[in-house]
Amino acid sequence: MTAVTDVTNPGTTSSPAASDGPPAAATERKAPLNDLRDTQKGTGEKVLVGVFVAVPLLALVAAIPLAWGWGLGWHDVVIALVFYYISGLGISMGFHRYFTHLSFKAKPGLRVALAIAGSLAIEGPVLTWVADHRRHHKYSDREGDPHSPWRFGDDWKALSKGLAWAHIGWMFNGNRTSREKFCPDLLADRKIVRISDWFPALVVASLLAPALIGGLWSWSWQGAVTAFFWASLVRVAFLHHITWSINSICHTFGKEEFEVRDKSRNVNWLAILSFGESWHNLHHADPTCARHGALRGQIDIAARLIWFAEKLGWAYDVRWPDPARLNGKLTGTRRLGSMTRRTPAVPAKKQPIRPGAA
Ligand SMILES: [Zn+2]
Ligand SMILES: [Zn+2]
Repeated sequence: MTAVTDVTNPGTTSSPAASDGPPAAATERKAPLNDLRDTQKGTGEKVLVGVFVAVPLLALVAAIPLAWGWGLGWHDVVIALVFYYISGLGISMGFHRYFTHLSFKAKPGLRVALAIAGSLAIEGPVLTWVADHRRHHKYSDREGDPHSPWRFGDDWKALSKGLAWAHIGWMFNGNRTSREKFCPDLLADRKIVRISDWFPALVVASLLAPALIGGLWSWSWQGAVTAFFWASLVRVAFLHHITWSINSICHTFGKEEFEVRDKSRNVNWLAILSFGESWHNLHHADPTCARHGALRGQIDIAARLIWFAEKLGWAYDVRWPDPARLNGKLTGTRRLGSMTRRTPAVPAKKQPIRPGAA
């Protein structure tokens, strides 16, 4: 890998990955906000984001009325939405909050279901996904981070290149994150290792199941073909872009509502489509927190699902937002929302944040 300037400490070059990779909780930053300038959004940068995310999505939306009635029907929409939710929540609630960050504990059935559901997103086997993501948190926006948009520097040109890298380019890098180093806990679980090894079969299932359902539902070959196009190909492509946007957009644009030493930001317009993942600034401020949209009014679908699972007894020991922990990191005056712990583990240092209803 080429040496890059440590953006959290200009003028220095950080050392390559050397030490063991602890689970994300240990990577939490306690240092004050870094003093790098916040790069202002230029027109060129906005255009670039548009090229990478908005334009293909708009093209897709524009194709919908054209195809309606002959190449797209409500069966396809329903199947696509169901698979989008299952695979997207499998990533957000499963791969990310549960397997990577241990934000809650799950009964064995839910654990297996989350590993399978996340695999259906076709973002790599669970072990690979978790290893990469733990490495991302360990080196967030510094050398060693597999997908930082700040990799090439912070001027306009470097950032343009970095956004493309964070969004897609990093996946074409030959480096592979060590599973032994970053996810020994999952390697010790034979069931999870097996599901991880089944990934190719789960990819096939994720692509063929919508076609099968579409074909049986409409009892036609055309129904199978259109369901395959919309609920397999388009659904997977759309979810990929949303996930990648967390790596690119949410490390470049948006609000810093909690103090972090990296460039993670909260991006509200991606919240619903990403199941709450785009509240990425809170996530880096407190990686094990189960609710990423921790502030009042911040919609976080995955957190709500964890909440339901907790009520059903399938999830337990959930790490809900802790006012004592988040109190000192809040940059504005907004208050924490629902699902916040009522009894903080340790007394708050400054002005306590009173949880309010979302
Ligand atoms: Zn994370
Ligand atoms: Zn991040």
